[in-house]
Amino acid sequence: MSDTRHIIAVFGATGAQGGSVADALLSDGTFKVRAITRNPMKKNAKRLHERGAELVRADLDDDKSLRTALKDVYGVFLVTDYWEHMDKEREVMQGRRVAELCRSLKIKHAIFSSLENAKELSGGRLEVPHFDGKGEINDYFREIGIPVTSVRMPSYFENFLGAYRPVRSDDENCFILEIPIGGVPLHGMSVRDLGGVVLSILKSPEEYIGKDIGLSTDHLTIAEYAAIMSKHTGKTIKPSKLFPEDYEKLDFCGAYEAAGMFKLYMMGLDRDKEMTRKLNPKAVTFEEWMLENKNLLNLR
Ligand code: NAP
Repeated sequence: MSDTRHIIAVFGATGAQGGSVADALLSDGTFKVRAITRNPMKKNAKRLHERGAELVRADLDDDKSLRTALKDVYGVFLVTDYWEHMDKEREVMQGRRVAELCRSLKIKHAIFSSLENAKELSGGRLEVPHFDGKGEINDYFREIGIPVTSVRMPSYFENFLGAYRPVRSDDENCFILEIPIGGVPLHGMSVRDLGGVVLSILKSPEEYIGKDIGLSTDHLTIAEYAAIMSKHTGKTIKPSKLFPEDYEKLDFCGAYEAAGMFKLYMMGLDRDKEMTRKLNPKAVTFEEWMLENKNLLNLR
């Protein structure tokens, strides 16, 4: 018997966001998964294939490959990766390309992983290219009439294992969480819980098409994140005393842009914990995530 399930094309399927979406869709089985990658030989791609995903090679910079990848699909999950090239215009072009194909191929439901346009929100005071570009793509999907739902991820909890990993301070004999936003709470969520959210949205298109959904499972100050980390690792972890204005003067690539993002966080972003829980009742809080991941932190 032929498989009549709707096909969902998942961009970024070998990465964190798309990987979570592909995983949730494959586990559920309602939809067929078409995993898009530039390199089907990647380990993550092969793993998805073993679980039943179709692998299609395509590049967001290449129209022709995208047209083939989106043939016969019902829905699309799109995440664009600013950090691969750090070029806002290129990210916007990638998103617009997919939006235009959604129009010409009459795709029924697009889910775009968006973020706020900081420049617009701040009346031009802030520019945060990896937010602003996604905001522009979001507007474009709407302008050209695509049936789209936008989801806006908060800071991943997984950042605490990478970019936000506590840094040893020999002076203070402790670890510091170098997130320069003072006492302002920061929204967070595990990126692994995005997939369940996207699955629920795809299953109820009439409820969610046209919506912009800000996601979060926790809204804690850096001192509160640090206290939970201390509790579960047995190490002393303290919040940073830095503010974005100090951070932007630090000497590393991307410091200025990161400082802009922290200023945006301090303005407060629109995220909806209740809606997130409704869309994915299994989504974990920071403390639950910490319990599962404390060994990965491996603080010395
Ligand atoms: P990731 O784990 O690094 O994965 C990136 C994915 O993008 C890979 O699967 C890669 O696929 C795909 N990709 C990159 N360039 C591509 C291209 N030209 N054509 C086709 N696929 C391409 O990244 P992620 O965390 O899932 O997503 C990154 C995005 O998340 C960034 O734009 C960032 O701004 C946003 N974000 C991050 C956070 C956070 O807290 N970290 C929060 C909100 C939003 P292949 O290599 O297999 O082709």
